[in-house]
Amino acid sequence: MLDASNEREAFDRDHFFHPSTHMGTHARGESPTRVITGAEGVRITDAAGRTHVDAFAGLYCVNVGYGRSEIADAISKQAHELAYYHAYVGHGTDASIQLSKMIVDRAPDHMSRVYFGLSGSDANETNIKLIWFYNNALGRPEKKKIISRWRGYHGSGVMTGSLTGLKLFHDAFDLPRAPILHTLSPYYFRREDRSMSEEEFSQHCADELEKLILEEGPETVAAFIGEPVLGTGGIVPPPAGYWPKIQAVLDKYDVMLVADEVVTGFGRLGSMFGSDHYGMKPDLITIAKGVTSAYAPLSGSIVSKRMWDGLVQGADDLGAFGHGWTYSAHPICAAAGVANLQLIDDLKLINNIREVGPYFLNGLKNALGDKAQVGEVRGEGLLAAVEFVEDKDDHRFFDPSQKIGAKIAAALFERGVIGRAMPEGDILGFAPPFCLTKEDADLIVGKTAEAVEAVLGNG
Ligand code: PMP
Repeated sequence: MLDASNEREAFDRDHFFHPSTHMGTHARGESPTRVITGAEGVRITDAAGRTHVDAFAGLYCVNVGYGRSEIADAISKQAHELAYYHAYVGHGTDASIQLSKMIVDRAPDHMSRVYFGLSGSDANETNIKLIWFYNNALGRPEKKKIISRWRGYHGSGVMTGSLTGLKLFHDAFDLPRAPILHTLSPYYFRREDRSMSEEEFSQHCADELEKLILEEGPETVAAFIGEPVLGTGGIVPPPAGYWPKIQAVLDKYDVMLVADEVVTGFGRLGSMFGSDHYGMKPDLITIAKGVTSAYAPLSGSIVSKRMWDGLVQGADDLGAFGHGWTYSAHPICAAAGVANLQLIDDLKLINNIREVGPYFLNGLKNALGDKAQVGEVRGEGLLAAVEFVEDKDDHRFFDPSQKIGAKIAAALFERGVIGRAMPEGDILGFAPPFCLTKEDADLIVGKTAEAVEAVLGNG
């Protein structure tokens, strides 16, 4: 047990290699070490005894909020009864079987089965291999390319880091790798042709996708992957008509859709799945964060009936699916998932999102929408973002070296609220736990307005 804070910090800097952290600044002590020691509801407490409203639910994952004894008890019970058994060659546990059924029952009607992993990244790695296996099984081995979108986020493995369309995840690692391609981001606020309506811009995105498929040859393009609402790339809901227009292009060239619902799955948009929310017809749905609300690591690939049939046919020709993780369908994580999905139903948390989500977004719009340096306030369900610009009329962005988004997030933190400075652009993101109350929504809005004023003045 570490209690002296200077000792704890020294151990951290000397031994702990943090993910997504600037190594030099952290090791030299130029950026803060924060040790989180406890949490309840929407609030977290750190080792210095400070409490913050966590308006990003960890990494948009603690969806049911912190301190849920129902999930902790389910984990404990499972650990006592059966801490582990694998899922290879037809093995299962009650928890993993029950969770599979609960997931497929909640998924869009045409979905069939779920393959479990541990993280969103490994689930998307699985998806890529499923797509390749499927097309080999169907006797079209040349159909392997996967199209993603600039600003999409799909993980940080080698192939999934390639799917991700953000420079930070590419440049220092020689990514992206073939056969991953990128197309236009559905980012209406940042469109090049300012005269386009939302529908026109959506059509433009669909046209660009079609152009890319034709250039590459439809017989070589296997799949398209996208988040229903762009997440880490800026929290950007799709422009009007986007998904139906994209879906039409995919159907025309027999290109499968992968809906990456790591953030949107299990309620965040006010619907169980973003695919239902926007009328998408995916062959694969990626799930992670929300399936256990991060009480234990668990992810999955939900497979459509059509794809399942092809895979079964392929297995007869190609042999068993040679892909698995030791911890696939880990019973402790599955038990956490069962308790979590039950809690979302019992507490009617998706209904709460439908009520508090729009209330929160309107609060942000009313408090900030008219400010000269607020370009856009946007959101869907309990996802929201405020994008800052140097000049709204000219649509001019700040020089990234000014780090305006990071400064506003820091000023908000000083006021007791955690929002997230998104990695590209000056964007403050919010994704609070589903149990957010209107009072807490008001508090987040009020503190955000104060933080914005402290950094940008009251213009
Ligand atoms: N897909 C999406 C849409 C995500 O937001 C994330 C994580 N932020 C991932 C995949 C990767 O998940 P993980 O970090 O668990 O690997």
